Amino acid sequence: DAVVHWFKRDLRIRDNTALSQAAALAKAKGVGLICVWIMSPEDWKAHLVSPAKCHFELRSVQLLGEELEELGIPLYIEKVEKRKNVTKRLVDLAQEWKVRNVFCNLEYEPDELRREERLVRLMLEKEINFDPQHDDCVVPPGSLKTGTGKQYAVYSPWYRAWVAHLHAHPHLLDERPMPGKNPLGFREKFGRLFDSQIPGLPQCKNLTEKDKDKFHHMWPAGEAAAIDRVEHFLTEKVGKYTATRNFPSKNSTGRVSVHHAAGTLAARTSVRMARDVNSTKRLDAGVDGIKGWISEVAWRDFYRHVLVHWPYICMNKPFKFEYTNIEWEYNDAHFRAWAEGRTGYPIVDAAMRSLKETTYMHNRLRMITASFLAKHLLLDWRLGEQYFISHLIDGDFASNNGGWGFSSSTGVDPQPYFRVFNPWLQSEKFDEDGEFIRTWVKELEGVEGKAIHNPYAAGGKAKEIAKENGYPEPIVEHKFARERCLARYKAGIGRE
Ligand code: FAD
Repeated sequence: DAVVHWFKRDLRIRDNTALSQAAALAKAKGVGLICVWIMSPEDWKAHLVSPAKCHFELRSVQLLGEELEELGIPLYIEKVEKRKNVTKRLVDLAQEWKVRNVFCNLEYEPDELRREERLVRLMLEKEINFDPQHDDCVVPPGSLKTGTGKQYAVYSPWYRAWVAHLHAHPHLLDERPMPGKNPLGFREKFGRLFDSQIPGLPQCKNLTEKDKDKFHHMWPAGEAAAIDRVEHFLTEKVGKYTATRNFPSKNSTGRVSVHHAAGTLAARTSVRMARDVNSTKRLDAGVDGIKGWISEVAWRDFYRHVLVHWPYICMNKPFKFEYTNIEWEYNDAHFRAWAEGRTGYPIVDAAMRSLKETTYMHNRLRMITASFLAKHLLLDWRLGEQYFISHLIDGDFASNNGGWGFSSSTGVDPQPYFRVFNPWLQSEKFDEDGEFIRTWVKELEGVEGKAIHNPYAAGGKAKEIAKENGYPEPIVEHKFARERCLARYKAGIGRE
C-alpha cells in the first residue's frame, strides 16, 4: 500500500498543500509516499506553452526528483502523448501500485476542473479516494463575496476583502509541513520508479545549447532558486519597490512570476515571507514596498477568482461581452512588425525584442505593448495574448488573459477604452534616459538625449542615425491611431 501525490503546476516540496496532506496520511497509515509527474506533449501544445517554459519545468522536475530522492520518495515520470489519456493512466497506476489515496492540487481552468471531476468518478469506481486541494491561490476562489453575495469584478474592493479574509483566517498563510522520509525499505520496494527519465519534449527540440545555457543562467529553476530570489528581493529591493517598479531599466521587481507559474514557489509563500519582514506583520500596512508587492501578488489571485467565476474567458471570449463586436484590422505585416520589434516606436520595439531574447517582459512594457497592439494597430488582442503565452517563460493563462483584458479594455476591471496610452509619453516617463531602449534597439544606440523616444520626429542627427541604421519610421501615426481606436471601440460596443 502507498499514498500518491500527483504533481502538476506545483513543482515543489515545501509549502505544498496536497503533498503535505498526502505525506501526513501516508505517515498515519504507516505506508510510503509515491510522487507522480505525467506530462502530455499534446496538452502543452494545446496550451501554447513556450519552449522556455517547457525547459524551465523540465529542469525543475529534475531538481524535484533529486530532492525527493533524499527523502526516499520515488518520483515516477511518464510521458502520455494524448491529454485525454492522462486520467486513465493515473487510475491504472494507482491500481497497479494498490494505492487507496491520490492527492493533487487543483488547477482552475475549465478543462482542468473537468479532468479532476472525471478523476474523482473514475477513482471512486475503483474504490480509490482522489483528493484535489486548494493551493494555487492564497485565498481559495469562491471565498470572497460582495455585500450582495456576488463575485467581485473590480479589483480594489476585492483586494480589501482579500486582506480582511487573510487577517481573519491567518492559517491560510501558514506554511504546509514538508513531507518526512519514507519508511525504510520503501525505496527498494519501489526502486524501479527511480529509474524514470525526464522525457524530451517537441517544444524543446529547437532549443540550441546556447539557448539552454542562457535559460539556466537567467532563470535558475527549482524551489531553492525561487526562495533565494524572494529573499534577495525582500532584503535588497523591496524598500524601493513602490517608487521604482514601473521603470524597466531599474530591474527592481521580484522576478518571481516564473516560479509562481511553474509552482516552484507558492504565492502563499511569497505573501507570508513579505508579511513576516513587514514592520506591522500586516498585509496592507507598514513598509510601503512590502504592502505594494503583496498587493501585486494579490492580482494573481484576483484573476484566478475571476476565471473560476466566469470560465467563458477561457474560451476566447472577452470578459465584457459588449466588446465582442469591435471590428479589428487584419494586417499581418503590422502584427509581424509588432512581434519582431519593428514598429518605429522605440519603447515598443525594445520591449518586444527583450521578450524574444529573455522570454520575460517587464509589467509596464507588457501594458504598453499590449495597448499598442489592440489600440494603435487595432489588431485583435487575442493574437497578442497568444503570442505572449507562446514566448513567455512565466506564461500563465489567468494573469496573461487578465493583463490583455486590462490593456485592451475588454477584460475585467480594465483600463477605460477611451484611455489610449500615448507610447511616446509612456516612453519619456518610464524610460526617461532611454537606457532600456538603448539596450535593445541597437540601431538607436548613438542617439542622444530625449530624441531617442521618437527619433524621426526629433529630426536632425537623431533622424539621420535612425535612417542610416535602417530603423523604421512609425508604422502608424499616433493621432490617427488614437482617433481610429476611439471610433472603432465606440461603434463596436454600440454607443453610437
Ligand atoms: P513583481 O512586480 O515582483 O510582482 C510579484 C508577483 O505578483 C509576480 O511574480 C506575479 O506573480 C504577481 N503579479 C504582479 N503583477 C501582476 C499582474 N498584473 N497580474 C497578475 N499577477 C501579477 N504575469 C504572469 O505571471 N504570467 C503572464 O503570462 C502574464 N502576462 C501578462 C500580460 C499582460 C498584457 C500584462 C499587462 C501583464 C501580465 N502579467 C503576467 C502580469 C505581470 O506583468 C507579471 O506578473 C510581472 O511582470 C512579473 O514580474 P515580477 O515577478 O518581477 O513581478
